[in-house]
This record gives sequence, structure tokens and C-alpha cells, in this order.
Amino acid sequence: MLTPTQEADFSGNFYQTDSQLKSLFMQAQSLIAMLRWRDGVCELVNPFLKNLCNNRDVLNKPMRQAWPELGEGFYKQVEHVYDTCQVSRSYDHEVKIIQGDDQVKEYYFDFVFSPYCHHQAEIDGVMVMGYDVTERVLARRQLAEQQQLFKDITDAAATALWTVDQRGNITFVNQTWVDWTGHAYEDNMGRGWIDSVVAEDRERVIGDYLRATNFKKPFESDFRVLRADGKMQWVAVTGKPRYYANGEFAGYVGSCMDITERKKTEQMLLDSEERFRSIADSAPVLIWMTGADKRTTFLNNSWMQFANVMQLLSDPGYLQSNLLHPEDKECVLDTYNRAFNKQEEFYIEYRMLRVSDGAYRWIGMKGVPRFEGEHDYFAGYIGSGMDITAMKEHEQVKNDFIGMASHELKTPITSIKAYIQLLLTIYNKRGDYDEFLLKSLGTVDKQINKLTRLITDLLDVSKMESGRLSLNSEEFLLSDLIKETVDEVQHTASHHDIVCSAIPPLAIYADRDRIAQVLTNFLTNAIKYSPDSDRVDVHVSVGDTEVVINVQDYGIGIKPEEQDKIFNRFYRVEGRNEQTFSGFGIGLYVAAEIIKRHNGRVWVVSEKDRGAAFYFSLPLLNA
Ligand code: ADP
Repeated sequence: MLTPTQEADFSGNFYQTDSQLKSLFMQAQSLIAMLRWRDGVCELVNPFLKNLCNNRDVLNKPMRQAWPELGEGFYKQVEHVYDTCQVSRSYDHEVKIIQGDDQVKEYYFDFVFSPYCHHQAEIDGVMVMGYDVTERVLARRQLAEQQQLFKDITDAAATALWTVDQRGNITFVNQTWVDWTGHAYEDNMGRGWIDSVVAEDRERVIGDYLRATNFKKPFESDFRVLRADGKMQWVAVTGKPRYYANGEFAGYVGSCMDITERKKTEQMLLDSEERFRSIADSAPVLIWMTGADKRTTFLNNSWMQFANVMQLLSDPGYLQSNLLHPEDKECVLDTYNRAFNKQEEFYIEYRMLRVSDGAYRWIGMKGVPRFEGEHDYFAGYIGSGMDITAMKEHEQVKNDFIGMASHELKTPITSIKAYIQLLLTIYNKRGDYDEFLLKSLGTVDKQINKLTRLITDLLDVSKMESGRLSLNSEEFLLSDLIKETVDEVQHTASHHDIVCSAIPPLAIYADRDRIAQVLTNFLTNAIKYSPDSDRVDVHVSVGDTEVVINVQDYGIGIKPEEQDKIFNRFYRVEGRNEQTFSGFGIGLYVAAEIIKRHNGRVWVVSEKDRGAAFYFSLPLLNA
């Protein structure tokens, strides 16, 4: 930086100076040089220029020698002014100045070249004044670079970007928008962009914009664009108000995102939802859906008719307070809530009021959890229910019949059994027995026993169905019971050995006869389904909270897919092998129900043709 105190190099030839002019030369913050004659001999330089050139000795030297770095352009301009005697200007002139140590620094100057004359008005030389505009030029260059960078970035964006001024006129769109619409940049300016919007959407999107701009609020909308390739494209537009540094509203800046795929998916979803609704509405079953918060989100027509409502019942309390049979309410809610919390499938049978005729109908309702999205998040339940009243009534008739028939059969069978026992006792006492007669009586006795067991099981089934099976629990030694039962079954088994491992003397609290019935069923099955083996093992193990009794056979075994089903009522495995065994498929059902009522568990471990291990557990007394 030059300082006014620095000495200027005035030559005595400068005859027009006065003190004011001298001071101006001395203090000027721009370079001044007086170049004499056509070859520009340096007659005068001001301190600014002198300093710029690192105090280089330039006086009385022609310009090409004094400043070899200035370049031909500069020298030519001086010569031109000298020749024409006309003032000339040059802007943003790039000047490289050697600043000592051979260091070259780049400057930019606005030059004014003015001819000066001696007193005979003849041209004497050229005065050069240069204003340092380096900062201005560099700032302009930086701005241009930034603008280019901004353009490159916005053009590379996958979204269309735009700005509007205070009056809503477009002032900028990026290349993405131009590419989409095929309309030149200039054509989009002002209101030109609207031509690319599908006619039906124009009013709506402008309305959305105006509503937002009234309150200078961010705005969102969507509309369709007519693409250059003739296709239609959905875009979601968002805009944010922008402000000048002084806080004055400057318009909006925003973007448009291509949401065509999203819209297509949404439409597909709507279509499939519509399809689902029409299928669901025409189905003669009760179909419903809930959200993850248990609130109902859908009921089909059948449901609405059943409950006699016109609209969706999103209130979960409605069902329980108005429609459920008071006796079933607790069980239904309990099952539903438990399944919901574990997000598990459920099936419930319960009575529900059909509002149209005020009759309670039996409904078999199945619910399945719904999982949605990429991450399969839990979205609630979908379920369907059927009116199973007719089925329930048939079942009732069947149960009543089984109950009645088995009850009626029991009396004559008991009497036949008593007479057989009497005859056997008499013949055994007499000693002169007819062997054939005695054998026949034995066979009849065995068959009567089988029949009795069957009838007892049937009676139990009917009791269970009607909730009449009661338990007479007492405390007893499990080991005694197992021994007795094993002995009894062993007595009737001619072919098998029932081998019992050591049983700890353990007392439990249960219905003794019923537990014996379960064990008898396991043992007789083990013998029945292992005709080619001669051994059945019984094993007892005691855990912390329960005792587990296991009956293992080495017979035909059970396929994995059948293992759950065999505990169902009247279920028998179908197969060539199994058909040779007589049975009704109720023994295991009754056994499982008895154990369930004792809060125990029943299960089987088996492989086809490799025997079966049946287990039941009972809670320990202290548990
Ligand atoms: P039932 O034996 O009268 O048919 P259950 O209820 O006792 O009725 O048994 C149901 C079915 O389970 C049987 O039909 C049989 O197919 C199968 N099952 C039961 N126990 C065994 C066993 N120990 N080994 C193989 N299959 C068995």
C-alpha cells in the first residue's frame, strides 16, 4: 500500500505543476504515469505506481524498458493515443507486475489514456491513470464460478428446482425441469411453467400456492406434468418462503419430485382395496379388520347388517358391551387380548346378539395378525367369523344322543358284567367246569370290559362338551396309583411286558380315578399300537414344579403332521396300518381334557415306525 508521505519522483520538466496538482498526484490511490513521446519515456510516476513496482527505477526509460511486463496491448494503446490525440479507455485490463525477487503479481486495472500537450498545443505525451479493480474482477469471477457451481448442482439434481419472486413469477428452473417438460429455460419464466401442467390440475395447484403465499407459509401440492416424451408424470411440489437480508419477502424456493411410481402404487393399492371391499362385502361371513391399536378399521356388509349399524364401529367397546353374550364376554376378551399381545392367530366360538331379530347366534371367529411393509411391522388383525349356530345345534343333538345312549347302555352292560362274574365264580368253585364254557365266559368278560371302557369314554365326552365333567380331587401317592394301574393293564395283556422304572413315593393332589383313566388309555394304546413288540416302558421324572409320566412303546409310531391332531375328538390316523386297529378316536381326547383340567400338559414324541412316547405332566403339590 502506498502512503502519501512517500516521495514522488518529479522531474524539473513538468512545468504545469502547482501545489494542488502535486498533492493529488502524491495521494492518489490509483496509478498515474506521464509517458513522453511516442515510445512512452517515463517522465513521472506517482508514489502508488512506484510502490507497486517495488520502487523500480523507471524514470526516463521508454515504457517497454521500464515495464517489460505490461505487454504489447498496453504499449500499443499508448502509441495509438499519441498518434490520434484521443482519450482512450481500457477496462479490466490484466496487468502482471514484477514486484522484486522476480515475483509476478496479477492485477486488474481500468485505464484512462489521455494525451497531454506542451504550450504550443502539440502532443507531448500520454498520461495514464489506472484504477485498481482487482478485487472487483476477482469477486465477479468468484460469483460467476459460484453461479456455475450452483447451476451444475441444480442441474445434476434428480428433482426439479425453482424460484419465484414476490409476485409468483418463476425466476429460475433447473435443467431437470427443462428436461422433463422439453420447454426451454426462458419459456418457463414468469407464468410460462404453467403450460407444462396438465390442464385439470392447474387451478388446484395455483390455489394451493396462493393459499400458502397469503400467509407466507411453506406449501405442498401435487400435479401432473406433460413430459417432453409424451408421458404423464406426477410430481410433488414443495415450496418455502425466502427473504432478503433486510427481512423483506423475496418469493419462494422449492422443488418438484417425481412421484409417478408412488402414485401408481397408491392407485394399485386403492384398486386392490376396492376389490377386497367388494369381495368382502359380498361374502356371507363377518369380515373385520383392526389397526395395531385394536380399533376397528373395517367391517363388511354382513357385519353391519348383523350388528344393525350403518357405519364403521371403531369403538372396540361396542362389541363387548352391546353384542357379546354376558357368559362369553370375559372368555372372548381374554382370548382376543392374549392373542393380540402375542400377535398370534386365534379362534373363538361365542354367542353374539343378532340385532335385527334379537337372537343370540353362535359365531366361530378366526383372527390372523397382519404384518405390513418392508420390515413386516404389526398392523393389526384381519378376521372372519361364521354363524355356526346350526352346527352347534347339531352337535348338541349329537352330544345329547351320545350321552343318552351311553347312559342307557351302561345299565344292561353292568348287569351282564355282574352275571358273567357270578357265572365265573360259580364254575370256578364247582371244579367240574366245562373248559370251553369257562374260556368263552372269559372272552365275553374281556369284551364287556372293552365295551364298558368305550361307553365310559363316550359318557365322558358328552360330559365334557356340556361342561358337566367334575373332578373329585384328593391327595394320594402317585407311585401307588401307577403300580395299581400297570398291574391291572398287565393282567389283560398276554403279549407285552410293562416295565416300570423306579417311582419316587410322591404325593399329588388330583382326581385319582381320572388320572388312572389317563394312564390306562396310554398303556392300552401302547399295547394296541405295537403288535410286533413285547415291551412297554413306564418312566416317571420329577421336576421343580411338575411330575412327568411317560409311556414308551416300540410300535407303529405317528407321523409328525398327525401328532397334534390325535388329541382331537374322534380323530384317528388314517392309513393301511392303522385301519387294522379298532377304536373311536376319543381316548386321547378325554385324556388330554382330564390333564388340562388338572393344569397339566399332554404331548407325544414319535417317529413313524419307531414307536411313540406319550407324556403327561401334573403340577406338584407344593407348586
Ligand atoms: P383310538 O385308539 O380309539 O383310535 P385314541 O384317541 O386313543 O383313539 O387315539 C387316537 C389315534 O392316535 C389312534 O387312532 C391312533 O392312530 C393314534 N395313536 C394313539 N396312541 C398311539 C400309539 N401308542 N402309537 C401309535 N399311534 C397311536
